[in-house]
Amino acid sequence: MIQSIKYLLVALLTTALTILYLDQYAPIIVEVPEKTSQRMPIEFSKEIQKKQIHKIEKKAKNVILLIGDGMGLNQVTAYRIAKGGPNFLTAFDKFPFTGLVKTHSFDNLITDSAASATAYSSGIKTKNRYLGVDGNGDDVELITEILLRKGFVTGLVATSEITHATPAAFAIHNISRYNTDEIAKSMYESKNHILMGGGKDFFMPESNGGQRKDEINLVDLIKNGNIYIDSKKALMSFKGEAKKRIFGLFAKEGLTRSESEPSLLDMFKFTLDQSKKMVDQNRCSGFFIMAEGSQIDWAGHENDFDYQFEEMDEFHDVVGHALEFVKFRDDTLLIVLSDHETGGLLIEMDELRNKPSSSMIVSWNTALEEGTHTGAMIPAYSYGPGAINFTGVIDNTDVFFSLKEAIGINELADKECKLND
Ligand SMILES: [Zn+2]
Repeated sequence: MIQSIKYLLVALLTTALTILYLDQYAPIIVEVPEKTSQRMPIEFSKEIQKKQIHKIEKKAKNVILLIGDGMGLNQVTAYRIAKGGPNFLTAFDKFPFTGLVKTHSFDNLITDSAASATAYSSGIKTKNRYLGVDGNGDDVELITEILLRKGFVTGLVATSEITHATPAAFAIHNISRYNTDEIAKSMYESKNHILMGGGKDFFMPESNGGQRKDEINLVDLIKNGNIYIDSKKALMSFKGEAKKRIFGLFAKEGLTRSESEPSLLDMFKFTLDQSKKMVDQNRCSGFFIMAEGSQIDWAGHENDFDYQFEEMDEFHDVVGHALEFVKFRDDTLLIVLSDHETGGLLIEMDELRNKPSSSMIVSWNTALEEGTHTGAMIPAYSYGPGAINFTGVIDNTDVFFSLKEAIGINELADKECKLND
């Protein structure tokens, strides 16, 4: 009898202590199944309601568009915390205007980089994998093509292959981002003044160590009449005139961060300097630069936060440099965008207890497949003439129309910005 009471008392005490412990440290405990994905039927009308665009009186002469591929709000937040803690001010945090961008593609809730960059470069929704063509595969006019017709200098920079989805959608038309032979040739044939990134392999034939199936050696063609740069050393010591198109191909495929390769900041600074010179020396209308932190996305696909931090840090340097540049002038619009989030990055506290944080837990959370793109809205940061149109909630196609309004492109006469030899 006494023995039974003893057991009962021990059981009661244990229960009481457990309740006390849980109440103190984990007041809300919800049982969740291991996998929490659910399927929701949706309406997917293809009709896009256009955002009302504010009329911009003071026009932009130049545009700098920076794209962090795969950079969602949590990528920016986790970067801030990892860089200097939650109170640290990043360059992103210093922009006066912010917005949120809806990213879905023509027929898919989740965009890829090709459809997203096509929305930015042409104002239309297209299918995933399509570059500079609409949902039927027909060519659409790109912002760079319009600007070139109006006498602008255009430059595209990426840490991926320069033939990769984002830069390619700003320069060429193809129904597949994977047609790399055709894309490289079209990039060469495009009139863009400066192209910088990796992807030398897609400009060289297989017989010459590249990956082209045809025997066309685009590097030889480039060297004939254009400036070709293939190392950081050559880029940093470049003293040429601003009279020729410039191709910088620094890696076989994506940039690898080897010492012989420039950083995104090196390529961006160079492109900015050369664009200014080209505009001044050839009496062009202004410049347009698109520079992409391409591998933020790759790190998301690989679920690798260390890799992502490095990529974010590099992209952040470019954002900071560009912001300093535009602050000292009133004629340049700076926009920082992503194209979609990659990996479902989540930030959580280090322990399930109400204790001061001493670390941050980041995890990748995609139910369908590891490291896929997600459908979250992504951030837009803007500064300069026309920045107001990149605020609020916008669709990715609105970016194109807001760019045109900022520059006042419809009012500009056609003009040739010919670089003379
Ligand atoms: Zn992307």
